[in-house]
Amino acid sequence: MKVSLEFLYHFRCDRCDNWWSRADIEPKPGDRVYCPQCGSVNTVEEIQTFRNAARSACLHTPPDPEPLT
Ligand SMILES: [Zn+2]
Repeated sequence: MKVSLEFLYHFRCDRCDNWWSRADIEPKPGDRVYCPQCGSVNTVEEIQTFRNAARSACLHTPPDPEPLT
């Protein structure tokens, strides 16, 4: 069996609260991202991960403390 990995990044617009996803292209803090709904320019502040939290109860555990670098 072969297993492949996909990173799926979720974005939420600061202005209209719409969200969208993008696969595999990793955003970096400081990147400017256009909202596909309202066209507002957002700046990436940080990337929250739940990789470690997902091993237990990610619904009750805050994001992993160290963002991806
Ligand atoms: Zn928006």
